[in-house]
Amino acid sequence: MEYTELEDCVVCGNHAVATSMVDGEIVKECEVCGNLSGDPDTIELIELQREAEGLGVSIHSYPLAQFIDNLPGVKLQGDSGGERSKGKLPFIAFELTDHRTWQLENIGQALRLVRAELECDWKIEFTFEYELGFELRPRTNDKPGAEQVEAARRDLNRIWRRLQGFKGLAWWK
Ligand SMILES: [Zn+2]
Repeated sequence: MEYTELEDCVVCGNHAVATSMVDGEIVKECEVCGNLSGDPDTIELIELQREAEGLGVSIHSYPLAQFIDNLPGVKLQGDSGGERSKGKLPFIAFELTDHRTWQLENIGQALRLVRAELECDWKIEFTFEYELGFELRPRTNDKPGAEQVEAARRDLNRIWRRLQGFKGLAWWK
């Protein structure tokens, strides 16, 4: 079979375009200008992860943390992608700057709808540290192992993806 593997970058015209698999999707990246091509959802995730690396924050929690931070009336307080070695699970902490519960209802409803697709059992925890806050985190009994941290990281991604779709639906407030 004869075929040409070499492709030109659509941006810079260079020939060194590397192919890799991300989340089961083929992504092509130009080795000169860094241009990505492939599945738009996967590329969006990779770009957000690069943004996170540039900011020095967790690539695992950044996409969902950004999504939550961008909801009207919501402000991100902090987020973590978890720590495998320390058995710390990811979380996303936020506050409701407008003191209304609609976004809490949106996130709660989204969690209910996406529950069957998730590996961990996620909850929204109420916190009080000088002010009212909320934490989205997986329920856990004992000290979580690296596998559970990884499972929760995959869930962060799933929740983020589904929230993007839910945002356009009729029930979303
Ligand atoms: Zn290029």
